[in-house]
Amino acid sequence: MKGCLLHSPAKVESNPLDFTDVPDPVPTGGEVLVRVANCGVCRTDLHVVEGELPSRKSPVIPGHQVVGRVEKVGPNVSRFRIGDRVGIPWLHHTCGDCEYCRAGQENLCDHATFTGYVVDGGYAEFTLAPERFVYPIPEYLPDAQAAPLLCAGIIGFRSLRVSGIEPGGKLGFYGFGAAASVAIQVARHWEVDVYAMTRDARHQRLARELGAVWAGGTLAEPPVKLNAAIIFAPAGEIVPAALKALKKGGTVVLAGIHMSVIPPLDYDLLYYERVLRSVANNTRQDGDDFLRLAAEIPLRTEVEVFPLREANRALNALKNDAIRGAAVLQIH
Ligand SMILES: [Zn+2]
Ligand SMILES: [Zn+2]
Repeated sequence: MKGCLLHSPAKVESNPLDFTDVPDPVPTGGEVLVRVANCGVCRTDLHVVEGELPSRKSPVIPGHQVVGRVEKVGPNVSRFRIGDRVGIPWLHHTCGDCEYCRAGQENLCDHATFTGYVVDGGYAEFTLAPERFVYPIPEYLPDAQAAPLLCAGIIGFRSLRVSGIEPGGKLGFYGFGAAASVAIQVARHWEVDVYAMTRDARHQRLARELGAVWAGGTLAEPPVKLNAAIIFAPAGEIVPAALKALKKGGTVVLAGIHMSVIPPLDYDLLYYERVLRSVANNTRQDGDDFLRLAAEIPLRTEVEVFPLREANRALNALKNDAIRGAAVLQIH
């Protein structure tokens, strides 16, 4: 099959993904082989490709927002049949046995593996996943539009959950890429007012179109104090600005897997029981709850589609804030 291999991490400007022939994957016990229709391009893919995350497999095929159809099933597969439309997320597998898994926090599993990072992912014609970690995809969305739900959607949803935001609350988004453009629809559904702080004028416009009550620059001060804020951009210098925008007792959630250094904080910014916390991965329950809600709202996504062989170009566009909504690779 054709796939995009990362041999060694490098800046995306050097086009490090190699579009080439790779061996066809074969499903083993409990696994499904998925014929990839579309794979979303996530900021985490950038961190993998550029080496901000330490390499876990080399070479590796990136990509963890897969939508496709089951092509083959391995032994002992019972949830899915050949031809079923499915989605493969970032969380590839958890042990089920560590203290976190046993406490319902499999997102923190000591032995978790991740799609497109620890195992090969969806920048390819076919990919494998354990069926217990695969989702049925709601019928209402075409493949390309469904792909960004698998990470941008699920992680944005978990970020909303842990922010503690309540109906009628005021919520800040820092950065307005794929995750924010989905999360704002959930927030609006919950009757939450969203304030968007983002550097790119096109992203500010998109935020207003999707119902943000206000949009301004990344470090701009929103016109009201916020109950909570979610930082989607991987820039540590946003943290003091976000804390400063909070009401007493508010929470700042860091939604990314990687962030540049956070500058020293005046304790005054954190005092009055403000909370600063990260989000790591997601549980399968988050994914099930989110996809159910997505169909109920129903959530829409705006995507910019690139052919698989142009994955490097998609990553460069993402890095340069040149994507409106989400970048998605077209495979079949
Ligand atoms: Zn575990
Ligand atoms: Zn992701």
